[in-house]
Formats: sequence, C-alpha cells, structure tokens
Amino acid sequence: MSFSPSFNPPTRILMGPGPSGAHPRVLKAMTAPILGHLDPEFLKIMDECNDMLRAVMGTSNRITLATPGTGTSGMEAAVMNLVQPGEKVVVGICGYFGERIAVMAERAGGVVTRVQAPWGSPTDLAGVQAAVKAAGNVKLIGIVHAETSTGVQTPVEPFVKLAKDSGALLLVDCVTSLGGVPVTVDAWGADAVYSGTQKCLSAPPGMAPLTMSPAAWDAIKAREVPCNSWYLDLSLLEAYWDERRAYHHTAPISMVYALHEALALVLDEGLEARWARHEKNGRALQAGLEAMGLVLHADAGYRLPVLTTVRIPEGVNDAEVRGALLHRHGIEFGGGLGDLRAKVWRIGLMGESSNPGNVLLALRSLGNILREQGFKADVRAAVDTAATGLA
Ligand SMILES: *Cc1c(COP(=O)(O)O)cnc(C)c1O
Repeated sequence: MSFSPSFNPPTRILMGPGPSGAHPRVLKAMTAPILGHLDPEFLKIMDECNDMLRAVMGTSNRITLATPGTGTSGMEAAVMNLVQPGEKVVVGICGYFGERIAVMAERAGGVVTRVQAPWGSPTDLAGVQAAVKAAGNVKLIGIVHAETSTGVQTPVEPFVKLAKDSGALLLVDCVTSLGGVPVTVDAWGADAVYSGTQKCLSAPPGMAPLTMSPAAWDAIKAREVPCNSWYLDLSLLEAYWDERRAYHHTAPISMVYALHEALALVLDEGLEARWARHEKNGRALQAGLEAMGLVLHADAGYRLPVLTTVRIPEGVNDAEVRGALLHRHGIEFGGGLGDLRAKVWRIGLMGESSNPGNVLLALRSLGNILREQGFKADVRAAVDTAATGLA
C-alpha cells in the first residue's frame, strides 16, 4: 500500500451549509505553539474569548463560554442541563435541527411536544402558543433562529414574550445566525443560546459558543438530579472557565486560539457592518437566482441571507450539478436534507465565504452547468441583477 506523507487539500470555495471558509488569520492562529491549558497566558485567552463572545452575542450573561465540540455540543449542553426527567418541553420545529432539539430533550427525560411547521416556513407561533397552553407548566420552549436545512429565519421576539408570559425558559439555536444576522441575546431576553464556530464565525468546526441567562442558570443550579451528561455538565464547565480553573477536560488549545482570532475579526469588522455585508451578498444572490429563472424555496419575508435554498428544476440531476460545481469550479453547495433531499440546493454565504466575488462566480458557474442540463438559465440576467444588488 502506498500513502502520501502529508495531505494537501484541494482549494475549495465553501458555499454550503457549513463549514464556511476560514479566514487566513484564523488558520495562522491555529499554528501557534501549544500552551498548557492552565498556563496563565492561555487562561488570559480563555477569558478574552468569553468577553468577546459576550460582545458578539449581545449579552452580559456571566455564564458565557464555548463548549468543546461542534455546534451540536452547545445544543446538547443547553438541553441536557435545562431539562430534568419528567419536565415539559415544547419545541417549534420547521426543519431538521428543531427535530434534533426535540430528540435530545426526550433523551434528557423531558416530556416533549413537537409543533411542526412546513419545511420552508418559519416556526408556527400560534401552534407553539397553543401547545404551551395545553401542556401547562412548561419548563422550556425551544426554537431554531436560523434553520440551515430550509434557509428560514424565525423572528425570536414573539417567542420570548410567550416564554415570559408562561413562565418557561426560551432556548434559541443560533448556530447559523451568530456573526451573520443579528443575534441580540439580552435585547431579545432569550435564556439559552448557542452557536458553532464554523458557520458565520468562519473558524474551523470544533467549539460551540453558549450563553445562559441568570434565570436559566438558576434553573440549572436548582436541579434535583445531576445533568445526564458529565462532559457537558455546565456546573463543572463553569468551574473550569471561571476563576476557579478546576480541571475538567483539556481545552482544545488550538481551537481556542482559532475562536479567539475569529471573534477578534468579527469585532474588528463591527457587528453592524458584518450583518450588512451578509445581508447585501445574500440578497444579491437571491435576486440573481430568481433572474436566472429559478425558484427560491423559503417563504418570502423569512429568507436567511446566509443560507439560501433554491429548488432544483424539473429534469435537472442534483448530483451531476453539484459534482460539476465541485470538480470544475471548486465550489461546494449543500444538497437538501430530510424532506428536501434532492429537491433543493443549499447555498451558504457565511463569514469569509460571504463576498461579492463568490456571489457572481456561483451564479455564473451554476447557470452554465444548468444550461448543459437542458435548463434555460438566463445567466446574463442573473449576473446583471446580482451585480446591481452588489453595487
Ligand atoms: C450546523 C447546525 C447545527 C449543528 O452544528 P454542528 O457543528 O454540525 O454540530 C445545529 N443547528 C443548526 C441550525 C445548524 O445549522
């Protein structure tokens, strides 16, 4: 058997549902020498990460840290710590990731009500209101801010009001929104919010920013039985991330460097400017796709700028188109998940990947490949329309 001594990945333009392209400064930060995880210089970096996370998440919550593991570790930490056996949970589901929250809440022993919305529409507020009322004494309401499986953004504020009125805590999945569209934890009044490093924060996958409101933290402190997960038990993680520095696990040192650099980049750019950049590029792409003759899948008015779902036209081969994009142009799009398998493409414009060059390149490349497939894509109109939006 022959093998090559080192791996040289091909150059790719990551325009799928994540990971997105990492900033060169983030990749460089990861090559810095490893420090001991209790080295004072490393502890300083951990503290700075927490401070920058508070700024990026729009919160003053004391419990703000990053769990080791990808975005799902943040979800699992939030759900496992907040839900005790027998407690009632209502999850508003409008795609793949909402269902994941519901499954986790069941594994935590929760009594879960699922409120389903069509894949392409936002979370069903009236349905969640009715379910909360019917269940009574609900501990936790869970929603997904940015549903990466459908490209839909659900407005958070009405769910905050519902949670406050009913005495429940509100969990919001912001894995795909943080760093790309406004996430304002304290202004919202959300209780448990988590994200991931590899979407709009443009670091490699590997950590999950997480914040808990004082009310959520009180609920965790008041647990009668310990959290089902030892690794993600926030009472233990807190003692590691705060001044006690009680050994719990070895921090993923290079990932903490990466997160630190990625957050510094977000704050350098400025949150408002960063949100505006994602908005402009996303809307230009969407206008271009429609001008090409394609149909956007998500409900108008709820479309995420950072993740666009577009329907695959009749007679066009999903795998061939994505294969040609990857092999000829180095462009990665995502395929459909779950109910949307082979029905849509998912085009991400997250973090570093969200730039005008990628918008135009994606439209031109996709349009030409679609023409080979027999679909009369109007490539010129697509590019002209997008260029106008980008100007
Ligand atoms: C990507 C994603 C997750 C899961 O994150 P991983 O990093 O893949 O573990 C959860 N929720 C949403 C909305 C996501 O987009």
